[in-house]
Amino acid sequence: MPTIALIAHDGKKDDMIRFAREHLHLLKRFHLIATGTTGERVQIATSMPVERMLSGPYGGDAQIAAHVAEGKVAGVIFLVDPLYAHPHEPDINGLLRICNVYNVPLATNEATGHLMLDGLVEKLDGEDAFSQENNS
Ligand code: PGA
Repeated sequence: MPTIALIAHDGKKDDMIRFAREHLHLLKRFHLIATGTTGERVQIATSMPVERMLSGPYGGDAQIAAHVAEGKVAGVIFLVDPLYAHPHEPDINGLLRICNVYNVPLATNEATGHLMLDGLVEKLDGEDAFSQENNS
């Protein structure tokens, strides 16, 4: 199962919960990792298993960046709050940078997150169809 990383700043956590509920059928096809609080909230709200890193301000974004750098993440959905300054801004910028270094899909708002999930699921369906054709 490919991995998707979920992160939401405090001002966007309710939006992330709604987003996760609305896209439950798509998210179920992925292994989910998340920063601490985001992961806890998504897990409780959806009953999906979520592998939780540390909380963002304590290094969670940096841990997710490491997973991206190691080639373990198919996409990152990071709902950023553009109206609020964060103490861990260097880690946030580091994660965004690492996604760009490795050309890993990165959605920083819901609209792009929606398109990304559609695209990743389409790719998965294509791969499933390919392996079925080659196994028959
Ligand atoms: P959190 O971290 O999910 O632990 O709140 C998110 C962040 O602010 O980077």
